[in-house]
Amino acid sequence: MSVLSRFLTCLALFLLLPISAFAADWDGQPNRYRVRIDAQATRAEVEADLWQQSDMLSMYGVMVVPGLANGQASLVEGMRVSDASGTSLALKDQGGGDFGIRGGQRIHLSYSVRLEHDHYSWPAGMEEVAYHTDEGLMTTGATLFFADGDAPVQAPIEVEFELPRGWHANTPWTRIGTGERYRVASRRELLSNALFLGTAMSETFDAGGVELTLVLGKRYRKSAPLFVDLLRSQLASYAELFGGPPLSKRYLIVINENASGDGGAFASSFSQFIQGDADERNRVIWGYVMAHELLHFWNGLSIVPTDYREEWFKEGATDYLTIATLARNGWLGGELLSKRLENVPRRYLIARYAQGLGMSVRESSKDKQPNRQLVYGGGSLAALALDVALRERSGDKVGLPDFMKVLYTEFARPGKTYSLHDLERIARDLTGSDFSGFFAEAVGSESYFDIRPSYAALGLRMDSFVEEMFISREPQATPAQRARFEAIFGRNLE
Ligand SMILES: [Zn+2]
Repeated sequence: MSVLSRFLTCLALFLLLPISAFAADWDGQPNRYRVRIDAQATRAEVEADLWQQSDMLSMYGVMVVPGLANGQASLVEGMRVSDASGTSLALKDQGGGDFGIRGGQRIHLSYSVRLEHDHYSWPAGMEEVAYHTDEGLMTTGATLFFADGDAPVQAPIEVEFELPRGWHANTPWTRIGTGERYRVASRRELLSNALFLGTAMSETFDAGGVELTLVLGKRYRKSAPLFVDLLRSQLASYAELFGGPPLSKRYLIVINENASGDGGAFASSFSQFIQGDADERNRVIWGYVMAHELLHFWNGLSIVPTDYREEWFKEGATDYLTIATLARNGWLGGELLSKRLENVPRRYLIARYAQGLGMSVRESSKDKQPNRQLVYGGGSLAALALDVALRERSGDKVGLPDFMKVLYTEFARPGKTYSLHDLERIARDLTGSDFSGFFAEAVGSESYFDIRPSYAALGLRMDSFVEEMFISREPQATPAQRARFEAIFGRNLE
């Protein structure tokens, strides 16, 4: 922050003082939400008893889509708010799910949410918003709840569900007693989580100190042992890779059927779609999405970039380390590993030449969904090249896993974020070599990044013709190149 903007911030805070000086302090009572779902799951009736600190009441994560001018907030009806004495309070609809309100008081809020989210096309997919199955409803906290749009009040949060007969709630929150009541650790945990309300099968198991609950749509019940095997082995690899557990101790995974096969990660949960059955043959797809989302519990949710410009590292390092750990754990054999390694430069090539995306990889995340081939493809290429460069410049003493451990030790704490400068510093500290030129070329430049030298340094040969890419083990590879390959992807991959 510059001196001038610091001054302007101070000035703005000073000008705001006379208004907020009237705002009372938190009354010490919890914030409670009560959600009733009707038998057909067409509506969620929400009643909330909240301490409102700021002058803004908000629905978070609102995405405007065709047909919904205010995104998810357009599906909210009958919003009524009153003070502690029952007197109606004025709400000023400011659009985008934001409502102006007088802060510094306890409010009682009621509204209903039309559960029609699956009728609309969401940029990241409905698995990140809400959808129905014949066994219930997947929804997220942000889809259901309003919260203070500014000040994060430290009031304890409780959520209670009233559900159709035979349904139960699956959440990553802490259950209170035996009913459907939960304690929620923070506003982020309230809003940034997937929930499944319904009759679907669930299975809870412990792996490496993390309690995982899997909620499986009917079609996937028989695949539960496959999921559990993969999740256990990946979780153990990630704890070793980062040198510790993720920030949350309890996670929820919701799996249902949908052709998109996509997934989305939240604070303590992820929501995944699988196309058709889940078996050993298509594990290369569903296992990859699952392993990628699971890795985000560390890289992305425990270790958080300062802004969109390092989204490439969040997605790219996650993709690359997903490939490496799946190979090490035996989930990707030699042939599938080659295909995965061919897909990475292909995504980048599609972004640069078929889509004509000319911006740098760092800038591409400003508009992540349309540019996802560049974010993920360019990001994974850069992560692979970073791993190789760390090894080459340190005489193979350090690699990306050591880099991730330092990042985890320094940044895996609430509120702390990393920037490109931090990535450069950590690489320099680990190797004694300046990485600013490396990052400028790999992710800061608008020109084409050539991955072939990095692959060659791993004893891999990439033959390509336009969009055709073939990766194979180079028979002439030096012992050092072979050793580097095995250090990353494991043995027995000939
Ligand atoms: Zn991701």
